[in-house]
Amino acid sequence: MTVSTKSASDANQPGNSGTGQSSPASPATHARWDIQAEGLTKLYGDFPALQHVDLEVPQGEFLALLGRNGAGKTTLLKLLALLTRPTSGKLTIRGITHDGDLTELRRGMGLLGHNSFLYDELTAEENLLFYAKLYGIGEPRRAIRQMLEAIGLSSFGKELVRNFSRGMKQRLAIGRVFLHDPELILLDEPFTGLDDRAVALLENSLLNAHRQGKTILLCTHQLELSLKLASRLLILDRGKVAYQGPNQPDRVEQMRELYLQFAG
Ligand code: ATP
Repeated sequence: MTVSTKSASDANQPGNSGTGQSSPASPATHARWDIQAEGLTKLYGDFPALQHVDLEVPQGEFLALLGRNGAGKTTLLKLLALLTRPTSGKLTIRGITHDGDLTELRRGMGLLGHNSFLYDELTAEENLLFYAKLYGIGEPRRAIRQMLEAIGLSSFGKELVRNFSRGMKQRLAIGRVFLHDPELILLDEPFTGLDDRAVALLENSLLNAHRQGKTILLCTHQLELSLKLASRLLILDRGKVAYQGPNQPDRVEQMRELYLQFAG
């Protein structure tokens, strides 16, 4: 089960979306969704949650952000999701700096955080319609019908989310993230508490999105999952980058040792 019907051969074809709508953030310039950070620092009061982080994520990379509790993973993800501003340093996404016009950038992002961002008092269809309008999806009804089918909720479109089981809500939350076919997908501990069906849906959807050339940033404690899914690993240690490099399937033991050294 996956939330996209687009094949890997369609990768990097702006506007060619699996749900039939044109990608809302497909820019006229076809700029790439590369991310660059230089000296990113975030202070909370005088506490440095992140210190001088340099980062380079080319479009199509699947980056796992690892580290102990409090290492700064969520802070870094929030900066990259444009939810907060750095205290100092520079962040550039798709050629636009963090102090530029971020509207188009935000439309091209899909964020799965601790909150489902679903409304209990709306039906599944109404929830997705709200987000379809927010992201300016063409043919929203069609996109919603396809998405409900992809997440196994076709028969429940007119049910209030309040009546959904936890697993159904989880699948709807995943569908919400992928509905507008985002180019940059950001996830904060998305596998925590998921039921088996939602885990399979999310894993397959991420693998499919990666094959399509989407850029993915996954914040997690789970090394084995990162080794399985990601193309690149970044380990944070007390707000600083302890390791950044490609995920090397032929060097799994070295990757595990690195992880234990800085994040175990
Ligand atoms: P966890 O794995 O526990 O979620 P994390 O690696 O995601 O941790 P962050 O949530 O980014 O870490 O927090 C990094 C540090 O910044 C922690 O020491 C945390 O207490 C502190 N911190 C985070 N947000 C705030 C805030 N809004 N105000 C003050 N301190 C904060």
